Amino acid sequence: MDCLFCSIIKGEIPSTKIYEDDYVYAFADIAPQAPFHAVIVPKEHIKSAAEINSQNSHLIAKVYEAVAEIAKRENLENGFRVVNNCGEDGGQTVGHIHFHLLARRNLAWPPG
Ligand code: 5GP
Ligand code: ZN
Repeated sequence: MDCLFCSIIKGEIPSTKIYEDDYVYAFADIAPQAPFHAVIVPKEHIKSAAEINSQNSHLIAKVYEAVAEIAKRENLENGFRVVNNCGEDGGQTVGHIHFHLLARRNLAWPPG
């Protein structure tokens, strides 16, 4: 299967690692939308949030454990935003579920 983020997780495509554990990999976004912009992915290939079910939802819990750990390590005490784009209208461009962790600037709301 041809998947950009699976290739990044395997190290076939280089990335700047921010965090890794048995379930999750996080790396610097190539086109950062904030001074701090990590992309957090479960290592298991899941297409999008629309594919989450009782068999794989524990991996999303692992993603959020990683969010808290990264926020602690990176001293994001002023806050941050986690974004998941799902499907075409949601703006998803890579078909491996991922969560943007954005920080170190004041983030507008609503996002538009
Ligand atoms: P989406 O638009 O699907 O929510 O997010 C995909 C993200 O992946 C984008 O923010 C984009 O900049 C990032 N991205 C796409 N290709 C690469 C790549 O090869 N390396 C890295 N580090 N980020 C990428
Ligand atoms: Zn994948």
